[in-house]
Amino acid sequence: MSFEDIPVDVGIIYEGERIRWKDTFVELGGPRVEHKFELVRVRPLDQVENGKITIIGPDLKDMEPKSTHPFGILVEVAGKELEEEMEGVFERRIHEFINYIQGFMHLNQRYDIHLRLSMASFKKGLNSFEYVGKVLIRLYKSEIPIIEKIQVTFITDPEKVKELYQEALKIYEARDARIRGMKDEDVDVFYGCTLCQSFAPTHVCVITPQRYANCGAISWLDGRAASRVDPKGPIFVIEKGKCLDPIKGEYEGVNKVVKEKSGGVIERVWLYTAFGYEHTSCGCFEAVAFYIPEVDGLGIIDRDFKGKAVNGLTFSAIADITAGGTQVDGFHGISIEYMRSPKFLQADGGWSRIVWVPKRVKEKVKDFIPPELVDKIPTEEDVSNVEELKEFLKRVGHPVVERWKAMEEAKPPEEEKPAEEAALGPLPTVTATVGGFRVIFENARIYADRVIIKRIK
Ligand code: SF4
Repeated sequence: MSFEDIPVDVGIIYEGERIRWKDTFVELGGPRVEHKFELVRVRPLDQVENGKITIIGPDLKDMEPKSTHPFGILVEVAGKELEEEMEGVFERRIHEFINYIQGFMHLNQRYDIHLRLSMASFKKGLNSFEYVGKVLIRLYKSEIPIIEKIQVTFITDPEKVKELYQEALKIYEARDARIRGMKDEDVDVFYGCTLCQSFAPTHVCVITPQRYANCGAISWLDGRAASRVDPKGPIFVIEKGKCLDPIKGEYEGVNKVVKEKSGGVIERVWLYTAFGYEHTSCGCFEAVAFYIPEVDGLGIIDRDFKGKAVNGLTFSAIADITAGGTQVDGFHGISIEYMRSPKFLQADGGWSRIVWVPKRVKEKVKDFIPPELVDKIPTEEDVSNVEELKEFLKRVGHPVVERWKAMEEAKPPEEEKPAEEAALGPLPTVTATVGGFRVIFENARIYADRVIIKRIK
């Protein structure tokens, strides 16, 4: 495939490239704007004009340096073998394909997309969405040959983005609703996805009917459609095998495949818990369930939440601890749709263990929280620190309060530990890439009199 007419390089090596604000020419979508989306639709053959690229609103060359814009991408595809069920998976490939473009960064998915174009690539001539459209069209057609026709529309006109954003939300909701009601026990296979390994090399998503992918963009039905189209692709079948623990959600087949696909790093996965051998988190999760030791409960923070969570940390601070494709006890990347599942953190107590959630998220999933708990789970409007949280939980009789009593009674007498161990404790698995080799420290204990961090020149 040739990209000679594109002013910058295009290739897999640019996946994972981060564009910092100081190096940014323009930002599209992201947390500073309310309306943004990406959407793929399967259309009849006669409704798609192959290769057509449309730009509604200002093009890249018309934008002010360091400006931020509402943004939408609409990809319409047609082909005799295409089905509507494939839309979600095709849509997720936008993330991968745009990241192939040197100096273009694409993060997140659906209504949460966040793109940046670097100043360097703009100066090299990447000054029109025409180029981005050409790259998308060529990659889609070569990677998914059953796409016979494709047209791409970029929208930067704020009013048009807003209008189409509302339509996109309805389409996402209809996709998610299709899978509700199906149970993990009713199927013989789950699906795996390794699309995010360019950012998190040991991460493998396990997608089940009742555990939506972390990014919130791929359901079990989407996984099925993708693996049929491209069985050797990044989304593949996982034979469930023997169920080893129905509460934690451990399956022989899942362990085997995850071990293989993570290069032997992740040996076991418990699907329905945030502790122990919890599902890994790449960086694309829509939200994080995080442990709050002072109350022995879990808080939830989502990507859109602007302030500090009840434990004083922002989403990006919590996401930094969680992401990377390792298992970090008590820090668990999840999708919004998983919160609507009856299997949601079932081994930890499900909603009865959730002690704090942003108001906007609570509104989205309210109908799926057991009614007796809805008023017992505070938001940022009810409490702003852990002390207030404790008081709130006591006052409303949240179920975790019973756990405090049980914990007090079961507390063993304090054991003396060497001073350094007590101070540091074991670290989670730490992965680093050095000179082309992956170095993994498992259960590392690090002792140091001094830590010096120097910039490499
Ligand atoms: S979050 Fe999971 S399902 Fe979504 S693209 Fe990444 S690996 Fe695939």
